[in-house]
Amino acid sequence: MTEKLFWNDAYTKEFKATIVSVGGNRVVLDRTAFNPRGGGLVSDLGTVDGQLLAEVVKEGDEIFHVFQVQPNFEPGARVKCVLDWERRHRIMRMHTTAHILSSVVHGETGALITGNQISPDESRVDFDLEQFDKEKMSSYIDAVNAVVRRGVEVSSYFMKREEAMKMPGLVKLANAAPPSVDTLRIVQIGDVDTQADGGVHVKNTSEIGKVVGRRTENKGRKNRRLYFTVE
Ligand SMILES: [Zn+2]
Repeated sequence: MTEKLFWNDAYTKEFKATIVSVGGNRVVLDRTAFNPRGGGLVSDLGTVDGQLLAEVVKEGDEIFHVFQVQPNFEPGARVKCVLDWERRHRIMRMHTTAHILSSVVHGETGALITGNQISPDESRVDFDLEQFDKEKMSSYIDAVNAVVRRGVEVSSYFMKREEAMKMPGLVKLANAAPPSVDTLRIVQIGDVDTQADGGVHVKNTSEIGKVVGRRTENKGRKNRRLYFTVE
């Protein structure tokens, strides 16, 4: 299984790895800092020995680096990997923002999160909620920016599933993880939010900058979608 460098240190911008296998334009590495698409996050991009990645995907336990053009790699070769850091850091800022926003809206309304899409330019979170007018949206965004300015530390750790299930705030989210997983990765944004989560985050909310609410959409009777970006 590929070692996930992005779990221990989300700030790895360059790394060396060994080619494990090559199938067409899909390559498995022994270790990677490229976060694959999943959990609502788009894939990281970058280069491996100068070859451009089209996408990074996860299938079961395996992470595949998909190249734009079929690369000439041999299994066992050492390669130099470089992340598109500007894109990745925006994804981290957006993702931590989505967690804070979810916590703010859940705290105010009790609404559950029904979906999210984290992209470098614009992201969105869906809430199971009847009412969501413009004023409410700007008050939620203000509350998010207050957390951002407070400079809250973000940490991650691993926990046995049965222990995590005893923590009241985590249970609904832990249920979303595959039942086969017995160790959960927990991401904690200080006193703001604690969730079982596999994605990449900033280490302090002050890195987010400024959160801007873009617009809201009604997706069905109870589904409210909120679009935002970071500046
Ligand atoms: Zn997340």
